[in-house]
Amino acid sequence: SGTVLGAFGMYYNHPALPSEEESNDLTSAARLAGIIMEREHNQRRIRDLAYSDTLTGLSSRAYFYLNLNKHLKQSERNNTRFGLLYIDLDGFKSVNDTLGHDAGDLLLQETALRLREASRDTDLVARLGGDEFCIIVDDIVDNYCSANVAERCLKLISQPITLNGREQIPSCSVGVALYPADGGSVESLIKAADTALYEAKKLGKNRYAFYDKELTDKAEYRFKLEQDLKEAIEQQQLTLVYQPQVDISSGAIVGVEALSRWKHPQFGDISPAKFIGIAEQISMIKPLTEWVIQTVCDQVAAWKRQGFPPIHAAVNISPSHFLDADLLPVIAQALKTTGLSPVNLELEVTEGVVQTNIKNLSAFHCLQELGVSLAIDDFGSGYSSFSSLKHMNVNVLKIDKHFIDEIVTDQKSQLLVSSMIDMGHSLGYKIVAEGIEKPEQQEQLKSLNCDVGQGYLFSKPLPAKEMTHLLKQNQSRTSVKGV
Ligand code: C2E
Ligand code: MG
Ligand code: MG
Repeated sequence: SGTVLGAFGMYYNHPALPSEEESNDLTSAARLAGIIMEREHNQRRIRDLAYSDTLTGLSSRAYFYLNLNKHLKQSERNNTRFGLLYIDLDGFKSVNDTLGHDAGDLLLQETALRLREASRDTDLVARLGGDEFCIIVDDIVDNYCSANVAERCLKLISQPITLNGREQIPSCSVGVALYPADGGSVESLIKAADTALYEAKKLGKNRYAFYDKELTDKAEYRFKLEQDLKEAIEQQQLTLVYQPQVDISSGAIVGVEALSRWKHPQFGDISPAKFIGIAEQISMIKPLTEWVIQTVCDQVAAWKRQGFPPIHAAVNISPSHFLDADLLPVIAQALKTTGLSPVNLELEVTEGVVQTNIKNLSAFHCLQELGVSLAIDDFGSGYSSFSSLKHMNVNVLKIDKHFIDEIVTDQKSQLLVSSMIDMGHSLGYKIVAEGIEKPEQQEQLKSLNCDVGQGYLFSKPLPAKEMTHLLKQNQSRTSVKGV
C-alpha cells in the first residue's frame, strides 16, 4: 500500500559508511521484517473485525460471549459478583421505518457512545445485534452499582438527538441480572437479564428492572431518596435538633450537639445514619455541612443575644468532607458573620478520618489555629482508636455509647471506660460520655471523673425552640443554685 511500516537500522561502533554487501543485507533484512510486521498487522485487523462491531466499534456478540464466559469462571474462582445489563432501544423499529436506515445507524452509533459514557472504563459494553446491547458491570459491591449504571444509561440515552434534521428523544429499557444470584451459567444469566428486560418493557419502557422484583422496588426507593435528598438539601428543607451536653457532676448544660433531621414528605422521618451516607454518595455532604455550620452559628449567636450563659455547639463533620480545603473558610466566614468566638464551635469527626489520609491531617492543625475545638466522636468504636490519638491533635474525646451501655453491668466495660478517661485526661482532653440513659450510669461516670455527659437521661435531641426552653430552665436552676 506504500505506507511506512517502520524503520530498520544497523549501527557500527565506530564512524563508517556501509559497504555494498552490508547495504544489500540491510535491504533484505528490512524486507523480511516488513513482511512479518504486515502479517502481524493483518492478524490484528482480523481479530478486531471479529471482536468488534463494525457499525459502533463496541465489542461484538462473539467477543461478548467469550468474555462473559471468562468473567463467570473468574468470578466463580474469586467468589466475586457482577451485574449483567441487557439494553434495548424503545421504538427503534419506527425510527428505521419512518426516518430510514441511515438515521437508524446513526442512532445506534450515538447509543454506543452514550452507553460507553454511562459505564465505567472497566465495564464491557457490547452490541449483540440490532438495537440490543449488553454491559457487564464488574466488581459490584452492592446491587446499587448495577442499578446506578442502568440509571445512567436511561439518563444519557434520553438526551435529544437530531436524525434527518428532526430532533428525537430516544429511550431504552434495561434488564438487570446479577451473578451468581440470578444465574450461574452464561445461558441462564442472559436469560435472566432478558426476562428482566421484558419486565421493564412491560412496566412501561424507559426504565430498568431487576430479575429479582424486590430489588427493583428497593433500587427505586433508593433512587427516589437520592433525588429527594438532593432537592431537600438544595432547598434547605432539612432541620436541626440540639441535644444538650451537661456537666456530669452538676447537671448544668454546657453545650449542645447539633444533629440533622430529614422528614421525607412520603416516607416520614429518615434516620441520619441513613441519609448522611446517601448525601456522601451523591456528593451533597458539602452543601449539607455548610448549611449545618451556618445554622448552628446563627442559633448559638441568637442564644447569646438572648442572654444565656455561653455554651458551645458541636457539629458532626463527615471524614470525606473534613479534609476539604473549603471547610476552613466556610467556618471562618460563619464565625465572622455571626460574631461568635471560635471556642463556641466544636467539630466532631470519627477516628476513621485517620484512615482517610494520614498525610493530610494538617487540616487539624489549621482548624486548631483558627481556634475551634476538635472532638473524636464514637471513640473506641473504630479500628484505629490509638492510632487516631497518635496522629490527631484534638481537644475532646467522646466515648462511644456501646461502652456506656454496659458500664454498670459489665466490669470490663467499666475498666475500659475508666482507662479511657484517665488516658484522655493525661493527654489533656475533655471527656464526654455519649448515650447516657440511666442515673446509675451518670453516677458511675461521675465517680470515674468523666467531665461531660450526653444522652436521653438529660434530654433527647430537641428542636431549637424547645432547646431554648430547656436553656431557660437550666439558667433559672443554676442561678437558684448560685443564690
Ligand atoms: P453521633 O454524632 O454519635 O450522635 C449521637 C447519636 O446518638 C444521635 O443519633 C443521638 O440522637 C443518639 N443518642 C444520643 N443520646 C442517646 C441515648 O441516650 N440513647 C440512644 N439510643 N441514642 C442516643 P442520630 O441523631 O440518629 O444521629 C446518628 C448519627 O448521624 C450521628 O451520630 C452522626 O454521626 C450522624 N449525623 C447526624 N447529623 C449529622 C450531620 O449534620 N452531619 C454529619 N456528618 N453527620 C450527622
Ligand atoms: Mg456526634
Ligand atoms: Mg457519637
